[in-house]
Amino acid sequence: MEKRMIYADNAATTGVSEKVLEAMLPYLKGRFGNPSSIYALGREAQRDVENAREKVAKALGAAPAEIFFTSCGSESDNWAIKGTAELMAKKGKKHIITSVFEHHAVLHTCEYLEKKGFEVTYIPVSDKGLIDPEDIRDAIREDTALVTIMYANNEIGTIQPIKEIAEICHEKKVLFHTDAVQAVGHVDIDVKAQGIDMLSLSGHKIHAQKGIGALYVRKGIALPNLIHGGGQERGKRAGTENVPAIVGLGTAIEEAVKDIPAKNAAIVEKRNRLIDGILKIPYTRLNGDREKRLPGNLNISIEGIEGESLLLMLDLNGICASSGSACTSGSLDPSHVLLALGLKHEIAHGSLRLSIEEDVTDEDVDYILEVLPKVVERLRSMSPVWEKMMKGESYE
Ligand SMILES: *Cc1c(COP(=O)(O)O)cnc(C)c1O
Repeated sequence: MEKRMIYADNAATTGVSEKVLEAMLPYLKGRFGNPSSIYALGREAQRDVENAREKVAKALGAAPAEIFFTSCGSESDNWAIKGTAELMAKKGKKHIITSVFEHHAVLHTCEYLEKKGFEVTYIPVSDKGLIDPEDIRDAIREDTALVTIMYANNEIGTIQPIKEIAEICHEKKVLFHTDAVQAVGHVDIDVKAQGIDMLSLSGHKIHAQKGIGALYVRKGIALPNLIHGGGQERGKRAGTENVPAIVGLGTAIEEAVKDIPAKNAAIVEKRNRLIDGILKIPYTRLNGDREKRLPGNLNISIEGIEGESLLLMLDLNGICASSGSACTSGSLDPSHVLLALGLKHEIAHGSLRLSIEEDVTDEDVDYILEVLPKVVERLRSMSPVWEKMMKGESYE
C-alpha cells in the first residue's frame, strides 16, 4: 500500500488557499500603502480593506459597519466578553452565562472575569454534546450581562441551537455572543435572522493566514474600545491595519460560504464512511451527536490506547490528525470537552479527532480505514491498560 499524506486536522488550522494567496500577494509587494494616508497608494489600501469588510459582512448577513478586524479568534472572543462585561457592569450586571465545553479563549476569559468580581454560570452539555436552550433560560437572572455559547464545538463538532438560544436571550433582554470560529464556512450563518448580537471568527480556520480574525458587533452595542491609539476600526481597535491579511480574509470567507450545502454533501458522505468504518473496531464510541455536527468532524474514543501514541503512529503513516484540541495536546490533562460529555478520564485520553474537507478523496478514506485498525491493534497489544481490560480487571 502506497503511503499517502492526508491532512485531516482542519479544525486545528487550514492552509492558505491559492486564491487567498493570490489576493494577498500584491499587498506584500508594491501595494504597501497605509490605509490612513492621503495619497493614492494609501487610499487604495483603505478601499481594499473596506472591500474585505464588505465581504465578511455579506458572508454573515451583517452590515460592513458591524465588522471589526482583529488579530485572531481568541482576540475576538476576549473583546466581546470583556468588553460586554465592562459595559454592563456599569449597569450593575455582573453575571455571565457560558458553557462547560467552550474553547479556552472563552473559558479562560470567563475565569479571569471571575477573579475580577464577575459571577459565571457554566451550562452543562448532554452526553451528545448539545446544550439545552431551556437551561439557559433557567440560568438567566436580573443581573445577567451576557450569554456566550459556541456555535460549533472545536473538538466534537456538535452544532448548538443558536437561534433558540438567541431568542431566549432577547426575550430576557440579555446580549448574546457566539464563538463561530468552527462554524463559519461549514454552516449557513445569518446573524440577523438568527438574532446573534456578537460573533467571533478566525481566518486560519477558513484558509486565510494565521493572525487575522473578525468580530461582528450588532449596531447599537457600544462595546468599549479594545486598543487605544489611532482611529483605525472606527477608533475601537487602534493599530495600522494588517492589509494583506485583511484582504486575504475577505477572499477566504467569500470562498468559504459559497454553496455550503452542496459542498457539505460530499464531505458528510466521506465523514460517515469514516465513522462507520472506525466504529467497527471493538471498544470504540462516537463522541457528539451523529447528525447535529460539522460536516467534516468526527471524534471517536478508542479504549485501551493513548491518544498521543495514536497520533504519532498515524503521523508515521502520513495522516495528520488530532486528539482533543491542539491547545490541550502536549498536556496530560484529558480534554475538558470529552469530560463534559461524561467520559471517564482513561477513555477521554484515547480519542481521535479527524476534521476533513473536500480535498480528502475516497481513496484517502480507504487508506485511513486500512491503516487505523492496524495501528490500534498494535498499540493495544503493547498496552497494559488494554491487557487488564481484556482480563476484566480494574484498570483505573
Ligand atoms: C481556533 C479556535 C479559536 C481560536 O482562534 P485563533 O484565531 O487561533 O485565536 C477560538 N474558538 C474556537 C472554537 C476555535 O476553534
